[in-house]
Amino acid sequence: MSDMITASLFDNMVKISVLNTTKAVKYAKKIHNLTPTTSAAFGRALTIGAIMGSTLKEDDYKVSVIIKGDGPAGRIIIDANNNIDVKGTIDNPNVDLPPNKFNKLDVKGAVGEHGYLRVIKDIGLKDAYIGSVDLVSGELAEDITNYFYVSEQIPSAVALGVYVDKDGEILAAGGFFAQLLPGHDEEHIVFLENIINKFKRGISKEIYDYPNVNELLKKLIPDEEYKIILEKNIEYKCNCSREKLEKAVISLGKKEIEELINDGEAELVCHFCNTKYNFSKEDLKNLLEKALR
Ligand code: ZN
Repeated sequence: MSDMITASLFDNMVKISVLNTTKAVKYAKKIHNLTPTTSAAFGRALTIGAIMGSTLKEDDYKVSVIIKGDGPAGRIIIDANNNIDVKGTIDNPNVDLPPNKFNKLDVKGAVGEHGYLRVIKDIGLKDAYIGSVDLVSGELAEDITNYFYVSEQIPSAVALGVYVDKDGEILAAGGFFAQLLPGHDEEHIVFLENIINKFKRGISKEIYDYPNVNELLKKLIPDEEYKIILEKNIEYKCNCSREKLEKAVISLGKKEIEELINDGEAELVCHFCNTKYNFSKEDLKNLLEKALR
């Protein structure tokens, strides 16, 4: 069973994706020790990462989404690739807030209403593509919709959600992403509005009831013909390695490495997956030699 499905409708004038990111968000909760509030914020951001990854055209393309609001959760960074491997970091995973006035997890309160959402695409060119917009909501779905409109000139509709139970367990997470492409008209906008009205109770509850994205898509579009153009798994996957961390140590330069040697040893932690890498005094001396070459 895939975690993400994209369908093309009306001669490719409308594209609709349904994403089930439950597995990835559960994993993120475990490694980052997320609270219910940060599970919701980080889970939505991770789902944005998956959406952005799905828009990359080539295998070796990568995208980073940086959300920096003025809320207590701090900065959230999500990396994704064309294979929809996602990973991310959050400054303050331990932030937990009371529910908002709609009795929902307060994502806006954690992220903040002021700040920016930035997308950096590494698409094999010398200079990366960078698009940046001010946050318009802090709830993130509106913010990424605004990004698509302003930076990529694509009218879109995005819904994101993380369904967390009373004990803080993640029951479901995912999103809905629709793009209106050249040639679309009023009738397609109405078509999308009708779909969106079907998940007023929250997209994550739909995903909880219909974890199979094929079934959920069929339920959302029962009457229209569509063509599946993408089916993918979504994995929380980090590509860090000892070798990469060694390079990072080398790039610190002579003075910093000498300080680490004076401390005796170093433990470096990957912020994306919390894997710890230990470097003994001997290891650090070898890296210092490399740095001096
Ligand atoms: Zn890692």
